[in-house]
Formats: sequence, structure tokens, C-alpha cells
Amino acid sequence: MNTIQTIGIIGAGTMGNGIAQACATCGIDVVMVDISQAAVDKGLATVAGSLDRLIKKEKATQADKTAALARIKASTQYADLHGCDLVIEAATENEALKVKILQQLDAELPAHVLIASNTSSISITKLAAATQRASQFIGMHFFNPVPMMALVEIIRGLQTSDATHDAVKALSQRLGKTPITVKNAPGFVVNRILVPMINEAFFVLAEGLATPEDIDAGMKLGCNHPIGPLALADMIGLDVCLAVMNVYVEEYNDGKYRPCPLLKEMVAAGYLGRKTGRGVYTY
Ligand code: NAD
Repeated sequence: MNTIQTIGIIGAGTMGNGIAQACATCGIDVVMVDISQAAVDKGLATVAGSLDRLIKKEKATQADKTAALARIKASTQYADLHGCDLVIEAATENEALKVKILQQLDAELPAHVLIASNTSSISITKLAAATQRASQFIGMHFFNPVPMMALVEIIRGLQTSDATHDAVKALSQRLGKTPITVKNAPGFVVNRILVPMINEAFFVLAEGLATPEDIDAGMKLGCNHPIGPLALADMIGLDVCLAVMNVYVEEYNDGKYRPCPLLKEMVAAGYLGRKTGRGVYTY
């Protein structure tokens, strides 16, 4: 398989513009597509702002910024993706929307082009089956903020070929990331372990075993986690954590994923974390 030199990205939001920045700073040409000019402009401005912060910290130069931005072509047209070797779908997390986008890509793109999805929760096997190139389809799960986070979970659907896997693994390494290879299953590996841990922290809190501050300090100082599970829940959003637990309940049909009643109660109250100004902590 030829080396990947041009990457298309669907979605210029949080993840899409982060992936664009990570690719462009590694010398890869990017075509970033979103539904409106305003959305792609916002994505480009976010990349520029992020590079400015790196310049301030002396981790990049003005020339690096100019070169990276010159490599990102922003567009609202899927037709501009024709020259890409790989297209990474990073649009809104909605299964019906993603299926529609993938079918559109499948129809537009030359047969050799690989397609990846950055979905956090939708089955890669299912999304692959929506295309006519299922063996060339794979999950590439980046972490937020993409330019800073070192991990890429590479998710193999049942249909994914070795050649597709190897090409995407090599690309992840070129981006300076460490890839891990995972079989398709709800939550993949990282969220499968992380979200039940957060849920358990809510049980510990609900049982009154310790204060939120002490629970978080315990996991930070005792396990070397950079942030405590309750503070992390506030960052992720309590509603998102609950939704993920509900997916596990449905998909695995195993009581060990029972969402903590306190978590449900807080979501019902609208205490969703940082985004609503109040979660476990007040902001
Ligand atoms: P976001 O809302 O910030 O961005 C999504 C973008 O997709 C928006 O700009 C939207 O206009 C665009 N979009 C919607 N429909 C489109 C279409 N038909 N064509 C092109 N663009 C379209 O969302 P996000 O946080 O960047 O999440 C994107 C994906 O990444 C989701 O699948 C999500 O599960 C996954 N993900 C998110 C995170 C995270 O922490 N935010 C982490 C890992 C994975």
C-alpha cells in the first residue's frame, strides 16, 4: 500500500480540526470538509489559535504555523476529497448521519481510498457494512485535544483487512501517536474501562465513603491519575457518562454496568458538569 500523503477529514469541529492540525504539522496535506463555510472557517481559526499557543510556549515557530495552515484546504464539497488516500469521518455522533456521510463518501471516492471513523460509540463493523468497501474501513479513535493526546485506538471491524489496519497504524505512528489495536466492541478499550470507573466513583460518593475532593485526591495520588474521576466526569459531561453506561447495559446485558442512581439523579437535575456550571463541583 502506498504511503498516505493526503487526508480528507469530514467535520471541522473539536475533533476534526484537531486531527487536521495533527496531520498538517506532520507534513501531511489535509482537505477538511464541513457543511457550511462558517463551520470550516471556525475550524481553521481554532487550528490557528492552537498553533499560536504552541508558538507562545516555544513548541512551534511562526514558520511551522504558516506551513501547517498552508497544508489545510477547507471545503464544503465532498468532490474536493478525490485526491485523498484516506478520509477520516469526524462528524457529529449520530448513527443515521454517519451512515449517510459514509454512503456519500463511498459513492464519491475512488475505489482504493480508505475510510476511517472517529466515532466514540458506534459499531465499526456496522458502519463498515454501510459501505461497499468494508475491508477498507476502520475505526481511528483520537482523543481530545488531538494535538496533545498521544493515543490512537485503532478499531478493527470484523471486515477490516490487514492492509487497511497496517496503513492506518503506520499513519498513527507518523503523526507521533502511539496506536493500540482493538477489536470492535462497545466502548472499545479505553472508554470500556474509564466510564465504569467513573460510575464506581459515583457509587462511592453516594455511599458517603468520602468527600468528592478526597475521592479525587485518592485516585490522583494513589493511582497517579492526572485528574480524579469525579472532576473528569464534570469535564466529559455527566449526561455523556450516563449515556455510555446505558449503551453497555443494552449491549452487554450485564448488571455490572448498572448506572449509579446518583449519576442518574444529577443528570435529571441538569447538573451535567462544567458545561452547565454545576456537576459534582460548582464552576
Ligand atoms: P463537534 O460537534 O465539535 O463537530 C462535529 C462537526 O461535524 C460539526 O462541525 C458539524 O457541522 C459537522 N458535520 C455534521 N454533519 C456533517 C456532514 N454531513 N458533513 C460534514 N460535516 C458535518 O463534534 P466532535 O466532538 O468533534 O465529535 C466528532 C466525532 O468525534 C464524534 O463521532 C465523536 O463521538 C468523536 N469523538 C469525540 C471526542 C471528544 O472528546 N469530543 C473524542 C473522541 C471521539
